[in-house]
Amino acid sequence: MKKRKLTKKELKEKQKIETRKFNKTMLISFSIFFIGIMSVLIFYTYWCDTKFAYRKLAFYGNEVPKSLVCMVHNSLQHHESLKVVQNAKTFYVGSHNCHEHLIEYYKEYAFTLDAFIGDTICKANALIGLKIRSKPELVYFNNKLNFKKYYEARNK
Ligand SMILES: [Zn+2]
Repeated sequence: MKKRKLTKKELKEKQKIETRKFNKTMLISFSIFFIGIMSVLIFYTYWCDTKFAYRKLAFYGNEVPKSLVCMVHNSLQHHESLKVVQNAKTFYVGSHNCHEHLIEYYKEYAFTLDAFIGDTICKANALIGLKIRSKPELVYFNNKLNFKKYYEARNK
């Protein structure tokens, strides 16, 4: 009789321990899951900004890839831009709105002045650089020499 009672008690104790173990496992699993979700969210929220901030620094004095600019807004983009062909020339724009703008005001947006010489040039053929370090504004150049001279003059 005594022995049986003890077994019951032991069983209860065992169950208690197991429940506690289970709760602990659940808590750890949930924590890992939660941290994982948060990391993904933070990554997606800030990754673009981090990349963008880095590019604004790193591209200064270097040629900016056309696939990362909007030639209508004359600015570096957070994301890859759209490649569009207009009047047999290839332009890069940030959105469909920008594209429509380019079509509608072609003469105004397709051309610009070489930032060093001041000649009128077509953005589709231009070399692109950043106007100021850490700012998304763009400047366009007719050729590599003007490009080089522009940054040499600025770094003096
Ligand atoms: Zn744009």
